[in-house]
Amino acid sequence: MLLEVKNVTKSYGGPKKALDDISFVVKKGEFVAVIGPSGAGKSTLLRCINRMVEASSGEVIFSGASVYELSGRELRRLRSQIGMIFQHYNLVNRLTVIENVLHGRLGYKSTLAGALGLFTEQEKRQALEILQALGLEEQLYQRCDQLSGGQKQRVGIARALLQNPKMLLCDEPIASLDPSAAKIIMDHLKKISQERGITCLVNLHQVDVALAYSDRIIGIKEGRIVYDGPPGELTAEK
Ligand code: ADP
Ligand code: ADP
Repeated sequence: MLLEVKNVTKSYGGPKKALDDISFVVKKGEFVAVIGPSGAGKSTLLRCINRMVEASSGEVIFSGASVYELSGRELRRLRSQIGMIFQHYNLVNRLTVIENVLHGRLGYKSTLAGALGLFTEQEKRQALEILQALGLEEQLYQRCDQLSGGQKQRVGIARALLQNPKMLLCDEPIASLDPSAAKIIMDHLKKISQERGITCLVNLHQVDVALAYSDRIIGIKEGRIVYDGPPGELTAEK
C-alpha cells in the first residue's frame, strides 16, 4: 500500500462540504482515474493528499508517513516524492524548457537567477534524458510561452519526474488540450506508470478517457465517493 486516505473531510466554510468523509487505499503502481462533474471535489481531494489544501479532518498516510502530522521540513521531503501536474501547467513562462524542468528541483520559492549553475552534471543529464523521452529535445532552449499546450504539459511532466517521485497527482492534465495532444499526454502518463512503477492519481472529467487508460476509477459527486472499482463495471452500471 502506498497511499491511504482515511475519512478526509474538507469544508471551505460554505454551506456544503467540498469533501465529505473520503476513504480509499492505493497500491504502488496503480493508475487511478478520479472522475466526477465540475465542483465534485476532485481538485480538493488531490490537494488534501499533499497538503496544498489543509483538510478539516481525517488522515492521509503516504509511504508509511502520517502526512497531517509532519513538520514543515518533513512535509517538504514528502512533497518531493509526490509530483503535481496541473491543468494550466504552472510553468514559469519567461524561462526556457530546460530551466523550468531543473528549477522544479529547487522548489517554487527559490531564486530564479543563476539557477542553472546550481545543478550537477548528473542532474542536467537526467533532465535531458527525461525531456528526450517526452519528445522535447528540440525545444530545450525555447521559452515556455512559445510552446503549444501539449508541449507545456510535457514540460510539466518532465519537471515532476526529475524529482524521482513515487506518485504523480494530476489535476485535470488534459482539460485544456485538444484530443490529439490529450492522447499524447495520457499515453506518456500511462507509460511512465507502467515502466517506472509510479502510482498515478489523475483527475478527469472525460469518462471515456478514464475508461481507456485507468486500472481503477474513483467516481466522486458532491464530495462523496459514489463509485470505486474497475473501469469495466462502471460501464455496466451506468
Ligand atoms: P472539482 O475539482 O471536482 O471541480 P473542486 O475541488 O475544485 O472540484 O471544488 C469542490 C467544491 O469546493 C466546489 O464547490 C468549489 O467551489 C469549492 N472550492 C474549491 N476551492 C475552493 C476555495 N479555495 N475556496 C472556497 N471554495 C472552494
Ligand atoms: P485551476 O484549474 O488552475 O486549478 P480553478 O479555476 O479550478 O483553476 O481554481 C483556481 C483557484 O481558485 C484555486 O486555487 C481554487 O482552489 C480556487 N477556487 C476554486 N473554487 C473556488 C471557490 N468557489 N471559491 C474560492 N476559491 C475557489
